Amino acid sequence: MPYRFMRFPEGKTKAVTFSYDDGVRSDVRLAEICDKYGLKATFNICSTLIASGEGESRLSENDMKKLISHGHEIAVHGDEHKSPARCTDMEIIKEFLTCREILEDKLGEVITGMAYPDLPISTASEERYREIRVILKSLGISYSRTLGNDNNGFALPDDWLAWMPTIHHDNENSIEYARQFVDLKVDDLYVSRHNPRLFYVWGHSYEFDNNNNWEHFEELCKILSGKDDTWYATNIEICRYSKAFDSLVFNTANTCVYNPTAFDIWFACKGKTHCVKAGETLNY
Ligand SMILES: [Zn+2]
Repeated sequence: MPYRFMRFPEGKTKAVTFSYDDGVRSDVRLAEICDKYGLKATFNICSTLIASGEGESRLSENDMKKLISHGHEIAVHGDEHKSPARCTDMEIIKEFLTCREILEDKLGEVITGMAYPDLPISTASEERYREIRVILKSLGISYSRTLGNDNNGFALPDDWLAWMPTIHHDNENSIEYARQFVDLKVDDLYVSRHNPRLFYVWGHSYEFDNNNNWEHFEELCKILSGKDDTWYATNIEICRYSKAFDSLVFNTANTCVYNPTAFDIWFACKGKTHCVKAGETLNY
């Protein structure tokens, strides 16, 4: 039985995404650089830290609306930037439900993306993490980015509620990894390794102000941008698309697939790339 592998929209083998935290003014600059290079970013916002007016150090409602209008994502980062690893069940519910409610109310969008504030989720015990996971799922959170140990790899997450990025932008190997990623030709690898790849960068945009190294971000963008085999997407776009792929229903002979989702979905099988349209059945 030949393997099947997910392909991103238009049959692309790779994706690039960015995740920046805390909703500060320099996010606008970061988004402008992303726009220049055709890249998409996710901005993780604390609901108590939204500016009430324009020009403040934090992003305002209008700033966030503008980011969304440019194709970027606004995601949950807690009401008061508290780590679930240090909260009771009730505090977790309050922290993340409140943030979701306020962001959705201000932006008129469904917001189910998240980045863990303050601490990586690995600071919770395995048992406590399993409990936290159930709570976040019940709050409708689709994915949550963690941090701590850059995975230095290009894999999609096994667990969307512990989504480890490829690198923090200050990773000493960031440029080298970006080049390796761009050079990687997925379909030239051994057949069992034809799985799609992701390059995921996280950080805080104010770090570029503090370190006076915006050119480092621009260099990363330059290396990663404009590739025909790469999808430039927000975190939630990648998560929703991947989950839609997981919803495909294949026949036992691996010759026919039904797509019950609202997405057109691409996959590779026997050296060919196929697209099964939303709601359709495809023989391949
Ligand atoms: Zn934060």
